[in-house]
Amino acid sequence: MAITKYIFVTGGVSSSLGKGILSASLAKLLQARGYSVTIQKFDPYLNVDPGTMNPYEHGECYVTDDGAETDLDLGHYERFLNIPTSQANNVTTGQVYRTVIEKERRGDYLGKTVQVIPHITDEIRNRFQRLGKGNNYEIIITEIGGTVGDIESLPYIESLRQMRYEKGPSNCLVVHLTYIPFLKGAGELKTKPTQHSVKTLLETGVQPDILVCRTEHPISKDMRKKLALFCNVKANSVMEAIDVSTIYEVPIAMQAEELDKVVLSKLKLPLKHEPDMSKWEDFLYKLKHYSTTITIGLVGKYTELPDAYKSINESFIHAGTRNDCKVEVRYISSESITKQNIAEKMEGLSGVLVAPGFGERGIEGKIEAIQYVRENKIPFFGICLGMQCAVIEFARHVLKLNGAHSTEIDAKTPHPVIALMEDQKTQNSKGGTMRLGAYPCQLKKNSLAYKIYGQNVIMERHRHRYEFNNDYKDAFENAGMIPSGINPVSKLVEVVEIEDHPFFIGTQYHPELKSTVDNPQPIFVKFVEAAVSYSKQHNLIELVEA
Ligand code: GLN
Repeated sequence: MAITKYIFVTGGVSSSLGKGILSASLAKLLQARGYSVTIQKFDPYLNVDPGTMNPYEHGECYVTDDGAETDLDLGHYERFLNIPTSQANNVTTGQVYRTVIEKERRGDYLGKTVQVIPHITDEIRNRFQRLGKGNNYEIIITEIGGTVGDIESLPYIESLRQMRYEKGPSNCLVVHLTYIPFLKGAGELKTKPTQHSVKTLLETGVQPDILVCRTEHPISKDMRKKLALFCNVKANSVMEAIDVSTIYEVPIAMQAEELDKVVLSKLKLPLKHEPDMSKWEDFLYKLKHYSTTITIGLVGKYTELPDAYKSINESFIHAGTRNDCKVEVRYISSESITKQNIAEKMEGLSGVLVAPGFGERGIEGKIEAIQYVRENKIPFFGICLGMQCAVIEFARHVLKLNGAHSTEIDAKTPHPVIALMEDQKTQNSKGGTMRLGAYPCQLKKNSLAYKIYGQNVIMERHRHRYEFNNDYKDAFENAGMIPSGINPVSKLVEVVEIEDHPFFIGTQYHPELKSTVDNPQPIFVKFVEAAVSYSKQHNLIELVEA
């Protein structure tokens, strides 16, 4: 078996340059050349995982099949590569320290002083290579979170230095993503910040092999030469990453810069064939050429930060390309919704998605929105808390169960239609204690869910504590809200839908976590399809000039 080669992606000058997208794009190109490749992210914070962080801190928490709560970049990896990631694809400083401290308590280092070097760096190096063991990956790309020079990323850079020294540059490559600012006053692009960030890397003993330069304007040949000279890299290894209109264009832009070719030649690997990007290009074409635009309302409480709903937004992009349309998402803060303004808030929408979430804030607004779309027969899709709110709304207004609620919000409700599972009742700690990861779900024949998936049993990912209360199941079914997806083992209700409605579905799981460019998630595809029909019937459609 060939040895696994490693590529590290570091960032300089500024955060938010898109290391995740760059890593995913490079991985895509290598995959399209026939390599088996995966990506992992190392985050320098002390939380064990982002599961306990507020979305405003960290954006969406992405959940893997094996139930890890991870960084949202893993979502990009899956959407680009169309292969699942796992717990091992996201490592945090918190996890590294926890392992080392547990070993220390067990006595594994008995007699020794436990230190950042070598104990923490040894643990990091182990984890750099963990995915290489037994998985047959030819190439592993590791994205190091943060920016070089940050105190907290130092142990990662040091581990990288050691690994590169041990394995040699042809087995362990460093791609440095940096930023070339344009100074308006001077009318010029400036390379100095990049020179400094490479110097910072050099101070820690790491020479980058390739520079990828984020820029708003094209970089001249002379500038590439200058950067090459000052940063000790070959001129063909200075790549331009000019701003593009969508993240899905980045693989194509990096292919034009020959990033994949340069990487493979440095790793002394054969080019095999040209990357087969035909499916990707087809997707990109559809993304840019559509005949209609529809607006879907996203009702949630983190509406000021679109990153909180990253996977939902991307799923709409994927689903739009399958329906020859562009989906504009209108964010509606659930807290701002009242009975008086609901009609106005919903005006012009062809569908409404009620988002996942935790806690009381904005709940009544979500319920108000659901009552409106149910009664007005506007396509509806509720995810997790959104599904739970649909159940509460139906209980209150159709079953006439006054005060029906979820015990998450009202512990004393007379009708706990959403309630805590038995095994959650004794749970005191917060991190990693929800129902997490992929569970099977059996779909009812002839239901909307069954028609959407075209399958009996599906696997979808969960992240929640509360559940549909099965004591009320018959009452709901008799009144027209059908539990159409059931966990075959625990008998928990995973999907509800309303028969007498053009499109009304709620899922306890998070379908948005499994939508990829190659395989758009089917509920999103059908929801958008229903929204397009609704908009045609109600003259909401905006036709795009040919
Ligand atoms: N707060 C709800 C629960 O814990 C829903 C969670 C979610 O929407 N992800 O069950």
